[in-house]
Amino acid sequence: MAYKIVLTTDRTMASTYNRNMFFGFSACLPQGVLPDWFYYPVFCPSAPADERGALVYASCGIRKIEAALLKNGFQRDELIVAHPDHLEKLVTSETKILCISANDPLGIGPATSTFVELWGGEGRMAIKLRELLTKTRAIQKYKPKVVLGGPGAWQLAIHPEKRTELGIDCVVMGDGDITAPELFREILRGEPVEPVIQGKIAEDEDISDLAGATIVGLVEATRGCARSCAFCVPSIKKVRSRPLQNILNDVQMNVVHGNNGIILHGEDILLYQSDGLMVNSAAVIELFDRVEHFPGVKWVTASHASFSSALSSPETIRGIAEVLELGTEKHPTKALQIGIETGSPKLIARHMKGKVYPFKPEDWQRVVHDGAQLLHENHWVYAATLIMGLPGEEQEDVQLTIDLVKKLRPFKGMIVPLFFTPMETTRLEYATPFHKTDLTPLHYELLAACWNHNLDWIPELWSTYGRDNNPLLKTVINALIRYGTGPIRRRMLRNARKHGATV
Ligand code: SF4
Repeated sequence: MAYKIVLTTDRTMASTYNRNMFFGFSACLPQGVLPDWFYYPVFCPSAPADERGALVYASCGIRKIEAALLKNGFQRDELIVAHPDHLEKLVTSETKILCISANDPLGIGPATSTFVELWGGEGRMAIKLRELLTKTRAIQKYKPKVVLGGPGAWQLAIHPEKRTELGIDCVVMGDGDITAPELFREILRGEPVEPVIQGKIAEDEDISDLAGATIVGLVEATRGCARSCAFCVPSIKKVRSRPLQNILNDVQMNVVHGNNGIILHGEDILLYQSDGLMVNSAAVIELFDRVEHFPGVKWVTASHASFSSALSSPETIRGIAEVLELGTEKHPTKALQIGIETGSPKLIARHMKGKVYPFKPEDWQRVVHDGAQLLHENHWVYAATLIMGLPGEEQEDVQLTIDLVKKLRPFKGMIVPLFFTPMETTRLEYATPFHKTDLTPLHYELLAACWNHNLDWIPELWSTYGRDNNPLLKTVINALIRYGTGPIRRRMLRNARKHGATV
């Protein structure tokens, strides 16, 4: 069977991550930190493919493009969502378009940049994308037009030399729901395409229901974020909450294909059907309730939330915990990604006033502390990020962040410090990036505080988060935790002291 349009992704995104979505972040670690023989089986085993070579579970982004094409007149037999390992047979002389969804195509996103700065090497996503585009003989031979989109598209928009090197003809930034069908028709008609295109903003009705299952049952509930942090790409997107029935349709698609867990995705799930930035408690609780009780669903969680939304509506957090039966033997806990970014009210006021709304920047330390406590008491675990080196950061700002991290010690979660990386299309796109050489003794103290926090919580987190994993994986991770945390802690503290930190 030959396909005109082949949709795919690099190998690091063609995995169900042993059913642990958080393992997906290990792709941000540079190659070499974990050897391939360990990384791939444990953190990123290959996703299943059907007899054609199609991914059974694909990233939500590529599935949305597939759905948009089908809704806009393309036929099922014209396109395939391909496993990257099967491209040699799926890219043929009939293939006119190779569409790739990429999270971090050049390995210069904030997480990968930080880890590369700290430990050297190159991000796996960049390596695997380069291999895919330059070593797949069928792509070299048949030369389909290569279109790249996804959250990391901005990287190729600002690096034309990399587009040439990788053979990418067109980069689509932002939404692809309307733009991809239009663009693909132009390509099929043989018309020239611009190298960089800003995707048209999709309204609710333009976002199609899934036409296939997603990795770990990720279902888009909202898109965009109105908090408008100056460093963040979603800040420029219009906020849309998908109608409940469409979300349930996507849940159904996942259940049919064997996903019995659902991750509700939004930049802040607590703002589902919100009135501006005010939580619509009834709508959010109903969303979790309906998905949790959907036939065939065994568990539900969410991808992202905010401390501000949580603290502004404690009844919502309690209501969700109740409908998901959190804190019980069945569902001891669930995890969410949340941005802390800084402990400094000054930097909050300067770069992310919206993040703290409806509170004030000067309340930020309390919002984070009380929000973390509220989540902890309701059996939610936070996976939080910090940003070191935000423009205007002074030593007193770093000290405030250290103080905040220490105050969070009683509350179960992980804190990941990242280096500030200016991203194209954000308000800070021309600001100076932060590098390892910019780290001061206080930054090393902050790194140590985060490591200490995480190493203290990892054993308990894994005991609940990993309890349903396969026995081999559990044995491997248990051994790593048992024998690895002590040496890692000692090494980290030695390193911090070597750089002048008081730890
Ligand atoms: S709250 Fe999060 S998603 Fe929203 S703009 Fe800020 S960093 Fe981006």
